[in-house]
Amino acid sequence: MTPLMHAAYKAKADMCRLLLRHGADVNCNEHEHGYTALMFAGLSGSKEITWMMLEAGAETDVVNSVGRTAAQMAAFVGQHDCVTIINNFFPRERLDYYTKPQGLDKEPKLPVKLAGPLHKIITTTNLHPVKIVLLVKENPLLAEVEALLKCYRVLDLICEKCMKQRDMNEVLAIKMHYISCIFQKCINFLKEREDKLDGLIKSLLKGRDTDGFPVYQEKLIRECIRKFPYCEATLLQQLVRSIAPVEIGSDPTAFSVLTQAITGQVGFVDAEFCTTCGEKGADKRCSVCKMVIYCDQNCQKIHWFTHKKVCKTLKEAHEKQELEAAKEKRRQEKKQERDEAQAADPSSTNEEQSDLHPGATKEVDPNQAVERTEENVLNNEPAAPQPRLDNPSESETSLADIAVQKVQESEE
Ligand SMILES: [Zn+2]
Ligand SMILES: [Zn+2]
Repeated sequence: MTPLMHAAYKAKADMCRLLLRHGADVNCNEHEHGYTALMFAGLSGSKEITWMMLEAGAETDVVNSVGRTAAQMAAFVGQHDCVTIINNFFPRERLDYYTKPQGLDKEPKLPVKLAGPLHKIITTTNLHPVKIVLLVKENPLLAEVEALLKCYRVLDLICEKCMKQRDMNEVLAIKMHYISCIFQKCINFLKEREDKLDGLIKSLLKGRDTDGFPVYQEKLIRECIRKFPYCEATLLQQLVRSIAPVEIGSDPTAFSVLTQAITGQVGFVDAEFCTTCGEKGADKRCSVCKMVIYCDQNCQKIHWFTHKKVCKTLKEAHEKQELEAAKEKRRQEKKQERDEAQAADPSSTNEEQSDLHPGATKEVDPNQAVERTEENVLNNEPAAPQPRLDNPSESETSLADIAVQKVQESEE
């Protein structure tokens, strides 16, 4: 291992920075099992170091002696944030290529001033359509029809390259295509609507009357996926298979399926996501219904025009849930009290107690089961079930009896 690999594995960001600054080779691959510094960064779970290695030019498609890439190694040990960073990394140089005239072009396909803002959107790990539109809107250079036209054409070119190059990258291709589709929607709204991009954000968030589900958003994402031009792509087929049978309004949403495919984020269980923009780590709840969360007041403000129609209903549902939970808790407490009272009562028999845990011995560790049968085969004995220890006090007594017997024997 090189010092850089050691530092990455131990998650020492300062040391990694120092070594890289002094010329450490990020792609040195002399490790006996072919591990790279990026793999060690992914294993360590440090997002900062993973990002640092990528920025230093770490190659993402190198495999180790068991045929795994850095992203796959990180996924293998559950470092999903690192997987997300690796899968969504797009070196700035690859974009800067389009800022220079190529071949017969008189001018570059992408004006230099747009490379920065576009790169920011390309490398985002939050693919929520509202977030992308917000990123476009916040940059005056980008929020213009001409600029967006150029950007979406470049994205389509990158998408094509990803599909046609030898080591095809379907994840990146679909991501580029998806962002390109959102840009095209932005162009439509800029051209046709007086409220411009605010109009698009409103359309994306507007919930249907029955349950507040954002139908337009769901349909837009499905349409983007459907329009992906390379039908033979495996990832596309996977996406279509997961989304097609789902009725609009049910889980999983097209957004969650797409996010999982592109960023590798599994499920939306252990983190809170903003209802408006899908940003991870949102923690501000609507104070009335307590059923939706936002990054901040701004995200809440954007969503309020449609949320206000369902807030009251959600509040009632939430209160009902709380009430049920409280009832259930009381039931549990009462049951526990009853059990404790029964345990303390000497008149209750052992038989009754063992009946309380009818399935206790049914669970068997599959490994142990295999071992046991192997043992039995070796000993040529029929497989016998493990004896049940229903009455611990009885077995204790018999052990004590044996011990007494042994002592007596030795005395004799
Ligand atoms: Zn938000
Ligand atoms: Zn609310």
